[in-house]
Amino acid sequence: MAVVEVRDLVKRFDGVAAVDGIDLASADGEFLVLLGSSGCGKTTLLRMIGGLEPPTEGDILIGGRVVTDLPPRARQIAMVFQSYALYPHMSVANNIAFPLKAARLPKAEQTKRVAWAAGILGIDGLLDRKPRQLSGGQRQRVALARALVREPTVFLLDEPLSNLDAQRRASARDELQGFQRRVGTTTIYVTHDQVEAMGMGDRIAVMEQGRIRQVGTPHEIYDEPADTFVATFLGSPPMNLIPESDSAASELLGFRPEHFIPWTPEMGDDWVRFPYHVHRTEYLGAERLLYGQIGEAKAVARFPANADIAVDIGSTTEFAVRRGDLKRFDAEMGLRLDRPPNGNGRRS
Ligand code: ATP
Repeated sequence: MAVVEVRDLVKRFDGVAAVDGIDLASADGEFLVLLGSSGCGKTTLLRMIGGLEPPTEGDILIGGRVVTDLPPRARQIAMVFQSYALYPHMSVANNIAFPLKAARLPKAEQTKRVAWAAGILGIDGLLDRKPRQLSGGQRQRVALARALVREPTVFLLDEPLSNLDAQRRASARDELQGFQRRVGTTTIYVTHDQVEAMGMGDRIAVMEQGRIRQVGTPHEIYDEPADTFVATFLGSPPMNLIPESDSAASELLGFRPEHFIPWTPEMGDDWVRFPYHVHRTEYLGAERLLYGQIGEAKAVARFPANADIAVDIGSTTEFAVRRGDLKRFDAEMGLRLDRPPNGNGRRS
């Protein structure tokens, strides 16, 4: 296990920054997710940590040691990418043993470690098969076992679940997280999928255009977004943002669709009222969404499908949000204006 740290890391391709000055440190044994849309630089950041891409500027430390100029094999890391790149002609056992053979470990030690890794990943029954005789999820586990036998101090995973169908992905998420907890190896995990990030990460680093917007636990990122980018990137539907009419400076008020509910006279001063014009409702099985407007601004409300909410489509009704669930942002830059003082939403 080891802490991974990057300092002022920059990568430019032909003068264009793919990674544009990143400071980030994992905790020991942490599952840290790099989350962002396509092209934001997350794969480039991971490849630099792995030693596959030399940084233009900055340093990389693993376990407190500067590894910036070391080749991948000297970094004690294991990488698993989207394509698992198993050797098709070799059995599962030989695929897993491959890095140990390359390191010339004694045969008995190889067998022992293969059995250990296969046991952890629940593939002991598949050791004699060839990769083509495995499901996508089983192949992924073989790739993880092959990474695990080297007893790396850090796992670098780049969208390892992206080849799986939706149903299989949910259970693979669960397995992968369980596996990481059992081995306790520091893991840096790249994804563009917010559900994956929220469900698996101890912390999430939200990236945009080569920079980190916010690093925090899933709760911090969701409940206390540092800016309007993070507020609208996470959550589906995203946080509502409406112009604040009372303030002197130009501000936006943000609130989650699930915090936006019909006003009742019993609600006290703790609630802020908004006239809400509802255009349309959408039934999604477990929940129901209302689409409408507050003045000119679009706003969505979300309820459990069985909630007893009667709203007339095409009418304007009083809705309300609890004061504590309202977030204030500067309208020009999108920065949060009322961030809690306890370090939530730390920016790098
Ligand atoms: P995706 O989710 O699509 O893989 P990403 O967030 O991982 O995206 P990167 O692959 O890190 O993004 O790419 C970041 C930016 O750097 C992109 O604009 C990409 O086009 C550019 N880039 C990446 N690798 C190279 C390269 N070898 N040469 C030139 N430009 C590159």
